[in-house]
Amino acid sequence: MGRFAPSPSGPLHLGSLLTAVASYLDARAKHGNWLLRLEDIDPPREQEGAANLIINSLIAHGLKWDGDILWQSQRSKHYDTALNQLLNNQRAYYCSCSRAQLNNTGGIHPETCLQAFTPGDAAIRLKIEQHNVEFVDRVQGPQCFQSKNIGDPVLKRRDGLYAYQLAVVVDDAEQEITDIVRGVDLLDATAWQIHLQEALSLQTIRYLHLPVIVGDDGHKLSKQSFAPAIDDQTAKTNLLQVLRYLGQTPPPAELNIAELLQWATQHWRTDHIPSQTALSLQSS
Ligand code: GLU
Repeated sequence: MGRFAPSPSGPLHLGSLLTAVASYLDARAKHGNWLLRLEDIDPPREQEGAANLIINSLIAHGLKWDGDILWQSQRSKHYDTALNQLLNNQRAYYCSCSRAQLNNTGGIHPETCLQAFTPGDAAIRLKIEQHNVEFVDRVQGPQCFQSKNIGDPVLKRRDGLYAYQLAVVVDDAEQEITDIVRGVDLLDATAWQIHLQEALSLQTIRYLHLPVIVGDDGHKLSKQSFAPAIDDQTAKTNLLQVLRYLGQTPPPAELNIAELLQWATQHWRTDHIPSQTALSLQSS
């Protein structure tokens, strides 16, 4: 079971289309389902209308998902259940340390904070257990994250918003995702997510982190940096371009979009995906 989980902070750009296509092909190549989840839990970062633009672009590119779209904004109850479980098990705590305080202590929390399990005007953080997280990424290879280097992530912000790390772990489990395919910019976050899966006694997941496309300035194309939206009118060209970035064998020219995706599914080779972390933007 695979998924695509965009945040509606802007329309799809070439980098997010790459993630959508790779996660789609990876799921379909295994005859698995591909689910769509809109990660709309951070209203200040959202752009009005972006969710619809994303949905329309996926349809224009022939990327049909299975079942209903999961909207994270509707799932507070589930996130609260997970938070209560963690607080009851003393795997999460209320933290009111400021960023400056944590900088001064090298990220170490005072005991008063680590023992705070009753509600207060504070963020909720996961208590990271002292052991390394190791996994083999299907493209980036073996990974090892030492617990002392990763800090305790926020699960619910002081302003009441649920954090991405919490929502993504709860929902990947709920949707029974077995394979996560996403950009390498989220590789570090995977260590937190694996710690959180362990704390909630959830299944582990296989990971494939794709190289990200970087613009002329060397920065990842992103919705926040206003990367240009993909043009739904040139869907076939966009798909061919994305397949080239993914190192896949070019499909025959005469195929329509549905045929092209079917062909790419049949010929999907994860060992052809470039293992570097950045790919520079090429003209199409
Ligand atoms: N919502 C995240 C984003 O748009 C992706 C989360 C994920 O794939 O785990 O960057």
